[in-house]
Amino acid sequence: MTNHVRVRFAPSPTGMLHIGGLRTALFNYLFAKHHKGSFVLRIEDTDQARYVPDAEADITTSLKWAGLHVDEGPDKGGKFGPYRQSERSELYSKYAAKLVEDGHAYYAFDTAEEIDNMRQRLQSPDNPTPKYDSVTRMEMKNSLTLPADEVKKRLESGEPHIIRLKVPENETIRFDDLIRGDVSFESRGLDDQVLLKSDGLPTYHLANVVDDHLMEISHVIRGEEWLSSAPKHILLYRYLGWKPPVMAHLPLIMSPKGGKLSKRNAEELGIPINVRDYIAGAYEPAAVINFLAYLGWSTGDDREILTPDEMIATFSLDRVSKSGAIFDLKKLEWYNEHYLRAMPVPQLAGRVREVAEREGYTGLTDAYLETVVRLMIERSVRMPDIVEQGRFLFDAPKTIDEGAVKKAWKENTGELVTEFRDKIAGLSEAEFTAAQVKAVLSGVVEAKGIGFGKLMLPVRLAVTGAGSGPDLFQTMALLGRDEVIGRINRSLDQLATK
Ligand code: GLU
Repeated sequence: MTNHVRVRFAPSPTGMLHIGGLRTALFNYLFAKHHKGSFVLRIEDTDQARYVPDAEADITTSLKWAGLHVDEGPDKGGKFGPYRQSERSELYSKYAAKLVEDGHAYYAFDTAEEIDNMRQRLQSPDNPTPKYDSVTRMEMKNSLTLPADEVKKRLESGEPHIIRLKVPENETIRFDDLIRGDVSFESRGLDDQVLLKSDGLPTYHLANVVDDHLMEISHVIRGEEWLSSAPKHILLYRYLGWKPPVMAHLPLIMSPKGGKLSKRNAEELGIPINVRDYIAGAYEPAAVINFLAYLGWSTGDDREILTPDEMIATFSLDRVSKSGAIFDLKKLEWYNEHYLRAMPVPQLAGRVREVAEREGYTGLTDAYLETVVRLMIERSVRMPDIVEQGRFLFDAPKTIDEGAVKKAWKENTGELVTEFRDKIAGLSEAEFTAAQVKAVLSGVVEAKGIGFGKLMLPVRLAVTGAGSGPDLFQTMALLGRDEVIGRINRSLDQLATK
């Protein structure tokens, strides 16, 4: 046994990795890196009924996208492998048999119907969900109640059976959780947990404990939803004669509307739930990671933006809170804007090109796209917004905002815009700079003795189709003289009847 910190992220491939899972992975990763330890990925795929074939690939892709590189795992290998539980199945039955031999577990032969009957018979207002436990086990069909030779016969004849943990009758099971402090559970409230199923595969509890031990996991860091499993695990460690790892249960992720963040309420609030939705939505992985780090943890000072190295240096489990962490989408967007704006313009322009080309906007120069980025960056939350919100920089507007037209387009507006158009038509392409175009517009409004907005807003509508947007003069300079004049002409035609 080493003193080395070894943690694991142990997802079950039962669906796409959700954002809460990524937070668990991140906290494990930060803890491992802070202590110069190892971050292990283990795939807990013993539940055949819930197995989703694409899930493991989704987990791997998501971790890579987030920059959480594993030190050991199914793709990476390592000396504690294999790292998929389905490839370790003989191990578990061996330990289950040992538990039976030592009197800490037993074979049970009850059919589902027999268990249902027991539950129905014992159900009462005081005991709404009767358990298969220290009391009821004695009236069921198992190796504690049946004669030894009958048990042997049944096993030899291949009769379907499971192995259950023999939970003690009256005991307070305690352990120290790094986040929650002293935690205790009464054994009376626990079911005789199934350890090995009739298909010979282990349940999560047995496989998890066996693997955490064999893989020399020093700290188990996982979501609070697993806290109630911990007493069963503590019993298993004791019965197998092993020292349990240190436990740390992370606070739940809560919906801003209250309650645990579920798939359904996330959807209602527009919160992407699966990591693949963040990838598809072109969120910046650095922003997502920075945001997730603060979902239940804090630095203790007023820093909010941390590089991965700073996170690693600062991370500690004592600053993880016990109470639920509220998922604030606005905060995530704030992080995303921050990281988007911090990106070098040429790099961002390269990414914008991909989105633009996918939408059919081809043949644009790097310089053009870099100006698009500079114009749109302050108005964009995510990278694709640059194209979506800045469509008028790629294509003439198909429509003109009706509401803005009502406000800005008065009787004489057409004439004013026409005059402006005629003046800019007199500029050469080289003279068609933001400053010159602005000077032309100023000249017209001064000559007429009207406010700047009286002409600027209609020109903006005519050129971009919208009542607001980035700097209009830079926009026009980017589009170029002929394009601007063409758009003004079309808009004048379209608005002539207004
Ligand atoms: N396989 C469990 C899951 O899906 C792992 C829980 C644990 O970390 O022990 O999250």
